[in-house]
Amino acid sequence: MTSTQTEAPTQPPTVPRTYEVRTYGCQMNVHDSERLTGLLEDAGYAAAPSGEQADVVVFNTCAVRENADNRLYGNLGHLAPVKAATPGMQIAVGGCLAQKDRETITRKAPWVDVVFGTHNIGSLPVLLERARVQEEAQVEILESLEVFPSTLPTKRESAYAAWVSISVGCNNTCTFCIVPSLRGTEKDRRPGEILAEIEALVADGVSEVTLLGQNVNAYGVEFGDRQAFSKLLRACGDIEGLERVRFTSPHPAEFTDDVIEAMAQTPNVMPSLHMPLQSGSDKVLRAMRRSYRQSRYLGIIERVRAAMPEAAITTDIIVGFPGETDEDFEATLDVVRAARFSGAFTFQYSKRPGTPAATLEDQVPRAVVQERYERLVAEVNEIAWQENRALEGRRMDLLVAEGEGRKDAATHRLSGRAPDNRLVHFNPEGADGVRPGDVVTVEVTYGAPHHLVADGAVLSVRRTRSGDTWERRQGGAAPEAGGVSLGMPVIGVPSPLPEAPACR
Ligand code: SF4
Repeated sequence: MTSTQTEAPTQPPTVPRTYEVRTYGCQMNVHDSERLTGLLEDAGYAAAPSGEQADVVVFNTCAVRENADNRLYGNLGHLAPVKAATPGMQIAVGGCLAQKDRETITRKAPWVDVVFGTHNIGSLPVLLERARVQEEAQVEILESLEVFPSTLPTKRESAYAAWVSISVGCNNTCTFCIVPSLRGTEKDRRPGEILAEIEALVADGVSEVTLLGQNVNAYGVEFGDRQAFSKLLRACGDIEGLERVRFTSPHPAEFTDDVIEAMAQTPNVMPSLHMPLQSGSDKVLRAMRRSYRQSRYLGIIERVRAAMPEAAITTDIIVGFPGETDEDFEATLDVVRAARFSGAFTFQYSKRPGTPAATLEDQVPRAVVQERYERLVAEVNEIAWQENRALEGRRMDLLVAEGEGRKDAATHRLSGRAPDNRLVHFNPEGADGVRPGDVVTVEVTYGAPHHLVADGAVLSVRRTRSGDTWERRQGGAAPEAGGVSLGMPVIGVPSPLPEAPACR
């Protein structure tokens, strides 16, 4: 007996349009880019294979960096001939610079298809489609946030660690900072929603979360609970499977003792603190419109050290703010020596158009800023090195990282993060098959200025669900959450650490 089968007419396979998101700036932007990729994938786009030209290139810009606009227009200029030669290609510009420059972008670079701001990242797919259909650039900037961005689809970059936004915007008015005018006033997410997101992340294999806010410890100001941040930290302590909790960046003015107690008493809140100093001089702090003073800052450090002697404390410092004298700069060095930071992001002040400080008289000459900057960096590095050397011989548990040890291939080491967030490069002997997201115990053999080394064999290995998740991802298994889902985390290839903390 024979049978005939009627073949269904073959449809040409639909090839998804590809995207590439280029991210500049702080963790806020890194996390926003996770949302942008989530949105694009939800709309049917696929990540462009590395080395291949994407159909859609999205710039997520930063307005804080010096010459950010020159760099953006340079990059857009490079893409103009590529776009001209690639039918259907689209370019979108979002982030802080887009919020600031708006129509200027399409005027200077008329080949840009979409400009969107910090308050409407959710509109990107619609704007791209509208630009394609109408064959005309779309510029859409909102003045305030309509939807909290964490309710948007998100494609998480790391298998084991995740950012969780608890607030966006900032109610402060630091005179060097463009954030308040571009990100708006602080909007707090409800605690239940934050905890639900963290629980979902943990269910997906994440073991470390970093709570994110421009002014993270002001959390609760919108709903009138001054202790909301410490309560949130304690609530994180009740989430089973959540091994490490961090946060960035707290503001010294709002740093209250209940936060120190919550950190010290909640075992999964890690003993690391990144607290921007900016200047050690009360006069400069006043000119910066930062409402704490040197004594308050050092008081917090003292109480943190008393409660958590093993804590690593890092900071941000700006050198050469307008009006900074040698005496003011010495006051900053005094704080550096007293606080014994384990690391610092150091910045040379330069004018940011749109900030109040840009119009201040008494700008410090470039050469003076440079000389102070070099002295500061030397002092910070020397102290960080002493602190790291003091850890030689210490045993520590490392969360094995991916993409954090640039020289690992050459040195045959792996890298991981200590509880205090120090980067440790370790000899993988005795840890066969260890995966990013697993935990190893090592003994530090050498403290370098910016990292630790553990060159003995690994003492123990704990395989974790995060490691399983990472391994599954390598096999190309579909994310458990079904690709991208509304507000639910999806896991992927970890990204390198962002350039600098959120609040500057
Ligand atoms: S530096 Fe930080 S605290 Fe000050 S305005 Fe900017 S985001 Fe707010």
